[in-house]
Amino acid sequence: MKKLVSICVVLCLVLSCCLCSCCAGGDPVEKNKAVVSNDKYRNFYQIWIGSFCDSNNDETGDIPGIISKLDYLNDGKPDEGDDLGIDGIWLSPMMPSYSYHKYNVEDYFNIDKDFGTLDDFDTLIAECDKRGIEVIIDLVVNHSASTHPYFKKACEELKEGKEDGYAKYYRFKKGSSPTYSRRVKDTDYFYEGAFSFEMPDWNLSYQGTRDYFEEIVKFWLDRGVDGFRLDAVKYFSDEETDGEEFLSWFYNMAKKYNENVYMVGEDWDDSGKVYDMYKSGIDSLFNFKFANTDGVYVSTARSGQTKDMAAQLKKYNGNILKRNEKAINANFLTNHDMVRVANMLDEDENKFAAALYMLSPGNSFTYYGEEIGIEAPNTTNDASYRTAMIWDNDELPDIYVNGVAEVTKNELGGVKQQLEQKDSMLNFYRRLIKIKNQNPEIARGEITDTLDFEDGKIGGYKVEYNGTTLLVIHNGNREEKEVTLTDEMAANPELRGYVVATNTVASEENADKSAQNTTAGEVKLNSKTLTLPPLSSVVIKAK
Ligand code: CA
Repeated sequence: MKKLVSICVVLCLVLSCCLCSCCAGGDPVEKNKAVVSNDKYRNFYQIWIGSFCDSNNDETGDIPGIISKLDYLNDGKPDEGDDLGIDGIWLSPMMPSYSYHKYNVEDYFNIDKDFGTLDDFDTLIAECDKRGIEVIIDLVVNHSASTHPYFKKACEELKEGKEDGYAKYYRFKKGSSPTYSRRVKDTDYFYEGAFSFEMPDWNLSYQGTRDYFEEIVKFWLDRGVDGFRLDAVKYFSDEETDGEEFLSWFYNMAKKYNENVYMVGEDWDDSGKVYDMYKSGIDSLFNFKFANTDGVYVSTARSGQTKDMAAQLKKYNGNILKRNEKAINANFLTNHDMVRVANMLDEDENKFAAALYMLSPGNSFTYYGEEIGIEAPNTTNDASYRTAMIWDNDELPDIYVNGVAEVTKNELGGVKQQLEQKDSMLNFYRRLIKIKNQNPEIARGEITDTLDFEDGKIGGYKVEYNGTTLLVIHNGNREEKEVTLTDEMAANPELRGYVVATNTVASEENADKSAQNTTAGEVKLNSKTLTLPPLSSVVIKAK
């Protein structure tokens, strides 16, 4: 019996080897090994907790729901390829708050009861640890809820004329002005609330406020959080506070408790101001110039002008590295404040846009549902950008966002349907992340040069890291192109991986489109000649 079993095992091994080499063909992505990240360079995935997965059927997603879906995100087996492969999670706000979005925090030391408990959170951290996923949490430092106990106490004290107690934590003044426009009931005091009267701005120059945030940071780092996504960085500056100084203080304070803490800031501002904010020393600031409807990635996915994109990316990265040599660009297409990218682009363009931002040096932030092309049901309110994740088109979730049910079938299929389709959006994303994990130089490297192929729609750049040079090349043309690599680009080029955005699912809905894509197919590298299908992206090792 034992002998029979071992013969079977050998037969199976031989068979599977044959199968592997057959189906692998020339595809390097099937053969290359993933490198597991142990630094700050990650493929992040942003989870809007209330919309992701509901574990207890109360119509709101929760932390146990996230835990139940971790294997979908990363099962801890980097080379088995049946997960998305992300290795970082950004959790949208989760602390107690009466609003559905939780950006007005009432208690910085707990989990909102809609989402679970601190025990659930500890389990999430432990399960993420097992899988090599780092977790960063959204931290709202600019303002609290008007129902935060400190603000309530401050307002009570001001009614008695007491200005030197809790009032020092916030920004109050007698008499109104454009900045101090919200009145404290029954007093002559007004306060700063950049976003709304329900969100009073903290006084970030006051040492007491800084001490309070130090406690908060320590509390969450002690619980195993790996870092923070800092909300509303642009608003840190006021009459007394220098935003850059505050951010620098905040980052260095957190480093006292975890020297590897990772921080990414939401500084939704002009690029020049973002560049300068990198002087604070913070690891990352979101690259808003390249994101959203008019951003470089979406515009390039539409126009195909990848040569120009490569030049802009080199310039942007150069500018942030000038301010902070350890800066990590934070690339993304959309987040919870933006219309879904699937509303802006068709499936091919959407895939191409994914390749453009994922293959840019730095960290990538994928907004949940982008990997299956979820569309916003309308483009007029924030809640519609935050609708439920569609796990199965045939079993839509009963998740309500801000009290409104807006869940409809996803045009491209739910997760379940897309897993079964070789060329689905989801499998495109999985392949992209696999390529990134097999070629760690893409994220970590510096763009040292752009590549000129005398075609504005074929663009690329050289990325150098630790003695390795990679070429990232995108064909933004709607037709197949052949280009020649010069000796200067790569003496002995090796194909490391590629994606083809025009390889779409031949479903009934897009049968017409597939028929047009007659040239869609595979990237080929024959000596120095590179064949690029329409809307394709390739990674080549130069030496
Ligand atoms: Ca729930």
